[in-house]
Amino acid sequence: MKIEKHASLKHYTTFGVDAFADRVLEIEHENELYDFFSSEYARQPYMFIGDGSNLLFVNDYHGTLVKMQTKGIIKKDENKEKVLIAAKAGEEWDEFVRYTLQQGWYGLENMAYIPGKVGSSPVQNIGAYGCEVKDFIYKVHAYEIASRRVCSFANDECEFAYRNSVFKNRLKGQYVILEVEFMLSQCPVVNIQYEDVKKRLENGFDITPEQVYEAVVQIRKEKLPDPQQTGNAGSFFKNPIVPLSQYLQLKQDHDLKMYPVSDEVCKLSAAELITLCGWRGRRIGNAGVHPNQALVLVNYGGATGQEVLNLAKQIQMDVKHQFGIMLDMEVNVIQ
Ligand SMILES: Cc1cc2nc3c(=O)[nH]c(=O)nc-3n(C[C@H](O)[C@H](O)[C@H](O)COP(=O)(O)OP(=O)(O)OC[C@H]3O[C@@H](n4cnc5c(N)ncnc54)[C@H](O)[C@@H]3O)c2cc1C
Repeated sequence: MKIEKHASLKHYTTFGVDAFADRVLEIEHENELYDFFSSEYARQPYMFIGDGSNLLFVNDYHGTLVKMQTKGIIKKDENKEKVLIAAKAGEEWDEFVRYTLQQGWYGLENMAYIPGKVGSSPVQNIGAYGCEVKDFIYKVHAYEIASRRVCSFANDECEFAYRNSVFKNRLKGQYVILEVEFMLSQCPVVNIQYEDVKKRLENGFDITPEQVYEAVVQIRKEKLPDPQQTGNAGSFFKNPIVPLSQYLQLKQDHDLKMYPVSDEVCKLSAAELITLCGWRGRRIGNAGVHPNQALVLVNYGGATGQEVLNLAKQIQMDVKHQFGIMLDMEVNVIQ
């Protein structure tokens, strides 16, 4: 186990806020978990993290952040059409996606270049460009902290929803995700329904999953701020899901984008609501709303977590006031 004391969270989170954790402990082998849970550190506050790309620390963290660094990818089963792959929690997500493509295992390419670890991918059911990871997860193996036993969650037991799962919600903090099993395709089927991806590839025919991967990486590099340059955690808010009746009422005054979810509810664009409230590109102190991507709050350098949170709350208040919609935060805020 590697331990860093008084660790700057600039190095452990992509927001790069100015805060410290009492210690960060890195787990490279699963058996080190047992050492951790037998140690004095487990009797004080602790939290499991991956690459910190979905976290906002508002204050210093008085306790231990446990970073999963376990590695390993194996093929567990296959037939002509499908292949079952297990990856350890500490594998980097984008490296894993590239590895699957190199092996001729398809499905994850639309989720290219999402920061973070494989072990975090089920937590908020990561998704992008028309795909969600829930559609590929077969099982999640996790360590149950209370019983100190390893157990498995089948896909339907993970209670996946839009940027949500049982691990972010009902059972938050009760399990350590150790390994995720993915059911992928051995046949190169592509999903280019998403407008941006379709446009980027529209002159091509016989489009391959590798081309989809490259297109998504390019779009993301153009659209999203690089956390190495400008601290951020991707989309700060979730797109709100509202009753269709509410959308129809709002439509009388605003020409809003709408994505049907069912006969009764639809999804609106949080970025559009934030932009209409005049927040896109605005900056308060060292925190701001990205000029090209209103959903992304950024740390222009030296921002505290509190500054970012204050900005987020002001945006929430304005959107609520103007549209009657309370935006949910997608980022995990640790107070
Ligand atoms: C530039 C940028 C773009 C992004 N784009 C997208 C996007 O397109 N789609 C998307 O869905 N997300 C996106 N995100 C958010 C983020 O990348 C994902 O949420 C990612 O899965 C977080 O992984 P992480 O390893 O950094 O997790 P962390 O931020 O370290 O942790 C996230 C949560 O998971 C928990 N957790 C982590 N590891 C474990 C474990 N082993 N066991 C139990 N709990 C654990 C943590 O306690 C925390 O609650 C983006 C972020 C950035 C910075």
